[in-house]
Amino acid sequence: MRYKLEKPVHGAIGMEKYQCTIEWRNGTFITDEPATSGGKDTGPDPFTLLISSLASCTLVTLRMYIDRKGWDIPQITVNANFYQEEKDGKIITIFDRDISFASPLSEEQRARLLDIAKACPVSRILEGDIQLRTYLFREEDVQKKVLYSNGEVTVVWKPEFCKHSARCVSQLPEVFNVNAKPWIDVNGASTERIVEQVKRCPSGALRYFYDGKGEDGIF
Ligand code: SF4
Repeated sequence: MRYKLEKPVHGAIGMEKYQCTIEWRNGTFITDEPATSGGKDTGPDPFTLLISSLASCTLVTLRMYIDRKGWDIPQITVNANFYQEEKDGKIITIFDRDISFASPLSEEQRARLLDIAKACPVSRILEGDIQLRTYLFREEDVQKKVLYSNGEVTVVWKPEFCKHSARCVSQLPEVFNVNAKPWIDVNGASTERIVEQVKRCPSGALRYFYDGKGEDGIF
């Protein structure tokens, strides 16, 4: 089992209706709800994010293919939206995307680009089998953690979050070894290499902070 994202998306909400802060691997952004749902519309709402994912994946997949072919198509645009309807007691969701190119295309190119768009990775996720797993943590579970320091960096391991994907064990066995006690040996590799590996933990079970900065500087 291997997660797609090297760092899990981390979201948080406080009392400000309905602003969420989303941390992704290279920064943060705000999501919100439209005023009609009680929010302030200061960021994209969850539906907009979902459909944006499809739109951007479509565009990037087409751009990669077009560039590989060396075709002269400088601009691609997509309009995407979705609606839901009830059929036989089931809610069906229909996604639509309209793609256009600011260059003349042959019939052969049009057909090929349509196939490429249909096969973009997010399309395949939406059209494939999806399982949604949800885990609920108690505050004491979230707080549960074990700290390992080499004097420069402290690795924080949250056992309740560990999904045992074993990425750390296979990629840096000098430090992460489930047969050893303790299972994390922070003297087994350089601080830089340990930090790099901690960032790859897919579940957020591993975090780090540089010693002297305290847990305020936690990654
Ligand atoms: S700490 Fe992270 S990478 Fe290592 S086994 Fe647990 S979930 Fe996997």
